[in-house]
Amino acid sequence: MLDKAGDAVNWQSVDNAHHLHPFTDHKALHEGRVRVITEGDGVFLKDSDGNRILDGMAGLWCVNAGYSRPELVQAAAAQMTKLPYYNTFFKTTNPPAAALAQRLAKLAPEGINHVFFACSGSEAVDTALRTARVYWQTLGKPEKKFVIGREYGYHGSTTLGASAGGMVDMHRQAGDMPNFVQVMPPYWYGYGGQMSPAEFGIYAAKQVEDKIKELGADNVAAFIGEPLQGSGGVIIPPETYWPEINRICKEHDILLIADEVICGFGRTGKMFGSDYFGIKPDMMTVAKGITSGYIPLSAVLMHDRVANVLINQTGEYYHGFTYSGHPVACAVALKNLDIIEGEGLVERSVVMGEVLRQKFHEVFDDHPLVGDVRGIGLIGGIELSADKRTRRFFEKNGRVGQMCRDFCINNGLIMRAVRDTMVFAPPLIISHEEIDLMVALAKKSFDQTY
Ligand code: PLP
Repeated sequence: MLDKAGDAVNWQSVDNAHHLHPFTDHKALHEGRVRVITEGDGVFLKDSDGNRILDGMAGLWCVNAGYSRPELVQAAAAQMTKLPYYNTFFKTTNPPAAALAQRLAKLAPEGINHVFFACSGSEAVDTALRTARVYWQTLGKPEKKFVIGREYGYHGSTTLGASAGGMVDMHRQAGDMPNFVQVMPPYWYGYGGQMSPAEFGIYAAKQVEDKIKELGADNVAAFIGEPLQGSGGVIIPPETYWPEINRICKEHDILLIADEVICGFGRTGKMFGSDYFGIKPDMMTVAKGITSGYIPLSAVLMHDRVANVLINQTGEYYHGFTYSGHPVACAVALKNLDIIEGEGLVERSVVMGEVLRQKFHEVFDDHPLVGDVRGIGLIGGIELSADKRTRRFFEKNGRVGQMCRDFCINNGLIMRAVRDTMVFAPPLIISHEEIDLMVALAKKSFDQTY
């Protein structure tokens, strides 16, 4: 783009002068140089310096169908031409919102038949948490207020989401609402000690039950957890964990909220993470992959058990957003689901995920820097370790990961560092050749880090 004088716009200086970024140390950003992303195509991005970068993170775990799909552009344009906006308050709806609600209900696990739309994952989480409290209030149990989450859980950055999540720095700055507590995550590699993964899964679930007993089940509204903890470092629970959580929530009459913002729409190799792990949620929060990130949209999918109370007993539910059920976002989501189902991207996630993991195992199992290679479907993490035998962390947790992340991007690959775990979640359309390239670029970067 040219400015009025006909010179190329220096986006770095424009950005530095005016743009406040999310999750950013701005002083550090201004001392370095912001990267300007200008184009996307398939699994690749291009920056303003002309670099081609393989996006091993699908943006922020969201561009499931890949970049620059003309079908999605056309769906947005057609809906914008017909009805660019109308709200769903005051007894109105629109065809894409109604059709998408129906389609999501069909895709969701049994008994989940109702949908409340919002715009971001954080808003969906806020909606689910408010709904949990309203549900119990309606049933005459207003004291059921506590929400149990987990350390390293991420549920967004609104005040409720930050409070429900288990990110210490976020709690320090904003997420200090009363009635939120966290328990140990099912992170075998970090906390499992001498236990087998199966034993540890039961042990980690027991922390939830102990916390419920400590607080008193009469005071607990809900347990919230991601099927696998993405932003916490792709923490994949042992298979014993979720069946226990199902049992515990049922026995103690606690609502179970599965935060599917990352896992939803094929990431794990099933449509939802709840399908993969056999979770029986009362509510599921979804976002990101619902539109492949092309336009903001999120939703809470509700089990009849919750929705029927809301519909038949609550009266007016004082909650919602100007853009709830936005017709353009819903039209894009419908087309995105056509792509996901039509191209078999959920099944592809299983097959290509296996290919990617096998290749990562081949190059990293004996790598001196790597302690663990893990993943399911097309999401995973490579945990860097100071001593792979004892699973010892590096002293300055996160420093080695950051170095590795920087080598990756300089070599043309986006992987994200969560502490010292390098996480990946490429678009579900990734090809065999692109997987080979991804593995080669990762190996080169890990070697440079070592
Ligand atoms: N929940 C989970 C599991 C997430 O991973 C995220 C974002 O990464 C959110 C909620 C928040 O979503 P958003 O950034 O769209 O508000």
